[in-house]
Amino acid sequence: MTPARSLLRGPVQYLKGVGPRRSERFAQLGVHTGRDLLYHLPYRYEDATTVDAIAGLQVGQDATVIGRVISKGVIPTRQRLRVFRAVIRDDSGHIELAWPGRPWLDRMIDKGDLLLAAGPVRFYHGRQLQPREHTVLARRSDDAAASDDAAASDDGAASDERPAAGRVFPVYGATKGLTHRQVRAVVRLNLSRLLAELGDDDPIPRAWLAELSLPPLAEALHTLHRPPAVDRVTPSQRRLAFEELFFLQLLHARARARLRHESEGIAFDAPPTLTQALPRALPFELTRAQRRVWADIEADMRRPTPMNRLLQGDVGSGKTVVAALAMLKAIEGGRQAAIMAPTELLAEQHQRTFVDMLGPLGVEPVLLTGSVTGKGRQDALERIADGRARFVVGTHALIQDAVEFASPGLVVIDEQHRFGVEQRRRLRESGQASDALVMSATPIPRSLALVLYGDLDLSVIDELPPGRRTIRTAVRGPGSREAAFDFVGDQMAAGRQAYVVYPLVEESETLEARAATVMFERLQTRFADFNVRLLHGRFSSAEKDEAMRSFLAGETQLLVATTVIEVGIDVPNATVMLVEDAERFGLAQLHQLRGRVGRGAEQSYCIVFHAAAEPSERLRAFEKTSDGFKLAEDDLRIRGQGDLFGKEQHGTPLLRFAQLDRDHDLLEDARRRARAIVADDPGLTKPAHRALRHALDARYAQREALYHVG
Ligand code: ADP
Ligand code: MG
Repeated sequence: MTPARSLLRGPVQYLKGVGPRRSERFAQLGVHTGRDLLYHLPYRYEDATTVDAIAGLQVGQDATVIGRVISKGVIPTRQRLRVFRAVIRDDSGHIELAWPGRPWLDRMIDKGDLLLAAGPVRFYHGRQLQPREHTVLARRSDDAAASDDAAASDDGAASDERPAAGRVFPVYGATKGLTHRQVRAVVRLNLSRLLAELGDDDPIPRAWLAELSLPPLAEALHTLHRPPAVDRVTPSQRRLAFEELFFLQLLHARARARLRHESEGIAFDAPPTLTQALPRALPFELTRAQRRVWADIEADMRRPTPMNRLLQGDVGSGKTVVAALAMLKAIEGGRQAAIMAPTELLAEQHQRTFVDMLGPLGVEPVLLTGSVTGKGRQDALERIADGRARFVVGTHALIQDAVEFASPGLVVIDEQHRFGVEQRRRLRESGQASDALVMSATPIPRSLALVLYGDLDLSVIDELPPGRRTIRTAVRGPGSREAAFDFVGDQMAAGRQAYVVYPLVEESETLEARAATVMFERLQTRFADFNVRLLHGRFSSAEKDEAMRSFLAGETQLLVATTVIEVGIDVPNATVMLVEDAERFGLAQLHQLRGRVGRGAEQSYCIVFHAAAEPSERLRAFEKTSDGFKLAEDDLRIRGQGDLFGKEQHGTPLLRFAQLDRDHDLLEDARRRARAIVADDPGLTKPAHRALRHALDARYAQREALYHVG
């Protein structure tokens, strides 16, 4: 290797202890270059200073121990069960570990290995620990050679890492054919040279790090790979988290700025005739929160730059009337406005709501969905194209090619979580609107919103209209089913209506439909005096519409349905929501379902059945609170953020280092800094910003292209 070659930029293959075969395995881990290896950080640490001393272990205790294997072997028992046993020793004493039924471990664990094991201590011819989990922290062979097929260490990097010296063991992500110990050995062999080449290079300015009390990059990486103590890890993790959050916010800020500068906006500043008339015509006063978000939106629409705002609000917080105000503002300005709903059912309901709401103002909403066909469709398309249709309600049918608006001004996207970034982009490119308002009925924590939708401005309705009763929520086991259905019967006898909801079964509409059908037949027999209807994904939209209409009109008392009713349906007389097999639903979905009741004056109830013996943590959280934002926080905590982000196309998650619960302060700070820089220098062309620009390109070339297309 010539000294001129860059280890950071060069392929990992040329690092010590790697070679062609192993470099393929590193590629599986997303590690292609030396820099990738630096950023392939341990996902956890084993801390030998906090484990239990073997001598002190008590029978009945759940213990974690670390020790050297001093003897081992497979011993058949009388029941013909083969048990692998190993005796390990630490400074204080020794204990036998036993793995019943796992004889093959004999090939994986050797005498002299340093083993970490955790599990219950039992009495079996003396104390014995049955590991629930175990890790080989170090091989005896590790001391002599850094890795299985590497030459012995030539700079002493491996030998000073003998377990006796280091008490913290980093555990790395591994893959087939590359163990976490081999990864650790390769990191040890190369760390000091990689960090030497990195030197003081740091995409984050020193001054910021000082303000945030975070270490510089090289120091952080060193600490994370070789922590002197476990409690030193967090500031370094936050250092990498900040970098990640900052560049993501910079990406968002640039997308936002580009939209503002490159697209034509409309300054809606006509006299507020309709937008003043609507609140006067409503049977209620707007809440303080509704007035506040409406002020945000109105200010956006007045500005000559395009609006791109996310409106969040809990179920029933009254987003629809805010949407109507925004649409009326576009209409006052001589433009057309459209609202796009995720399902036909919901679009049709919006249409009914708007017809009632806007009738007094002389504004006539026009509906366009996939099931508006023939003459009706022709008529709607014509009115949209010549501008007679000013207030348009629809589904994604609205963004198809055949639809041509005469003078588009605003589009509102309802239930935004159903539409991806991709659809937002298509909508924007279709030139159907200059201003966009996206509404989410599924509250997400602010931190998550900033990460996922950081290019949007954010408004939150954090208050429900007055006089709402809380919905009584009960989480019950299968044993309470009869009593629950008796209760449903009582409610119906008192004139109320109820929903029974079944989850999606294994992604299969057929199975889902069958489960609902079986239950429907049973309930029809049980409630012979009432009208029971079935509604599932297999129904045609005409059939769905018919069933819903009958429920809305009160002709049907009990609606047995699958998740098709999840969003938005509004039947004030419905007071019971009964959910079967509730574990199969996400918290957000359950909260949506609960939001289908409690929309009228009567006390409402949500009963969810768990199939398991005990309710899950999620269901207990659901029972405890009716605040959608609180539930979203719980969901994030219980499921973990990894689940929520999924993967980018190229396989790396959107956030690798940041933990939203821990780092939300850094996120806010990153967003502020990113927006300030972009406001000052949108192209990042000033000399002071050149390094940021390069770092951004290196990270997000692909993602930024996504924002660029079109
Ligand atoms: P969501 O935010 O879930 O879309 P909606 O807009 O459907 O909620 O509103 C839920 C119900 O609350 C509707 O029946 C609506 O008429 C009513 N509503 C909205 N705003 C108010 C208010 N300020 N006072 C009383 N009721 C309101
Ligand atoms: Mg709604």
